[in-house]
Amino acid sequence: MPHLKVAIVGSGPAGCYVAERLGKKAKGAVEVDVFDRLPTPFGLVRAGVAPDHQTTKAAARVMAKALEKPEVRFFGNVEIGRDLALDDLRQAYDAVVLAVGAPVDRRLGVPGEDLPGVVGSGAFTRWVNDHPAADDRAADLAGVRHAVVIGAGNVAIDTARLLAKTAAEIENSDLSPEVEAALQAPPLETISIVARRDARAVKFTPTELLELGELTDARVEIDAALVAGDSEGAESPQGFEALQQLAAAAPKNAPKAIRFLFNLQPEECVAGESGRVAAMRFTRTDPDGAGARVDLPADLVVSCIGYATQAPDGVAADGGRLANQEGRIDAGLYVVGWAKRGPSGTIGVNRSEAHGVADKLIEEVAPADKPGRGEILERLATANAATVDWEGWGRIDAAETARAGAGRVRRKFTALDEMLAAARG
Ligand code: NAP
Repeated sequence: MPHLKVAIVGSGPAGCYVAERLGKKAKGAVEVDVFDRLPTPFGLVRAGVAPDHQTTKAAARVMAKALEKPEVRFFGNVEIGRDLALDDLRQAYDAVVLAVGAPVDRRLGVPGEDLPGVVGSGAFTRWVNDHPAADDRAADLAGVRHAVVIGAGNVAIDTARLLAKTAAEIENSDLSPEVEAALQAPPLETISIVARRDARAVKFTPTELLELGELTDARVEIDAALVAGDSEGAESPQGFEALQQLAAAAPKNAPKAIRFLFNLQPEECVAGESGRVAAMRFTRTDPDGAGARVDLPADLVVSCIGYATQAPDGVAADGGRLANQEGRIDAGLYVVGWAKRGPSGTIGVNRSEAHGVADKLIEEVAPADKPGRGEILERLATANAATVDWEGWGRIDAAETARAGAGRVRRKFTALDEMLAAARG
């Protein structure tokens, strides 16, 4: 009986958890190759989880275990669509699993969205995480006094927290000195987290909310009347209760206000004289004020309103995801993670779901003696591709850890050529 040969595109949580499950369920009878366009593994855990949330980033250790298994091989710095075509993988392997995430910022769709000072949370997150494709627009915080963060999910909280933290509070993170300097420089007075619906519709989770109440330089401001009542029926009852807790806390003397505002639908990013955004315009959506205009001062707007995936050539999109039926796109072609169901759910949710798709694949795909890894290695060699293997990643990891500096757990390389040089050792 030939081995089952599977290619996984993307080494973020979903991709690693598929590899983990295939290794376990088809032990000794499977060959799994995991491709990533970056020389570094772990996708969202490395480049999306906030740099000050190292406990969450520790998920990388479990993911690494999956990639270190003898039946699994990591192919870093190999982009499907550039170095190899998706069809090359489909011909070489019994099955291909797309674990490509959802890296594209959803647009607000309002006038002024492209003004300087307006960024999507994906761009902001890539910048704070030293992603090699980070957009420098996110780093442009000089002189910012009023930040408006749009969205009522945990990414909005991550953004507000990083804008509010003191230097001491980002100790033991992997935030770079350059990003730290840019985050610390502006004379921020207000950070407004703005939801388009009411407080019962927020998606925040309590731990993340309550962390805001602990920050040295920030006071949380919530109109208690807007969070009154029973949490029953709220979309996140515990999140709603945490808002109540924050609203009821004793007033605090701190220079930065983190304000929670509800029922405000984004209408326009309004430019100031310099051409940079100066205000964010909303219309009220609550019954008492429906349609009324509200302008908030804003020299920074970060929209944290979700993401869309990028469909590989020949694969149909369905809204912001890839069209699929419970993870199956076509015979021998599967999708997992945010590319499968859209940008929601914690790393734990991704794990159980990725395991489910891996089980389905094992059930549906019969090994057909495909050429697998050998053919792909030949193609990459012919194309002179600078592939980074697991040992190469180990050298990048060791170099980043060694140069961490005081108060940091890692100093990431930001440029691809630096990463490739470190991988060569
Ligand atoms: P999210 O939880 O889906 O929140 C997105 C927010 O954007 C919602 O409040 C949504 O409002 C709002 N929104 C969407 N379109 C909008 C528009 N056009 N105008 C105004 N508001 C709009 O997404 P997320 O914050 O990006 O987080 C993604 C996932 O990662 C979530 O599952 C989250 O829990 C997880 N995550 C977890 C952590 C953590 O555990 N520490 C950290 C970060 C992210 P509606 O509800 O009205 O659509």
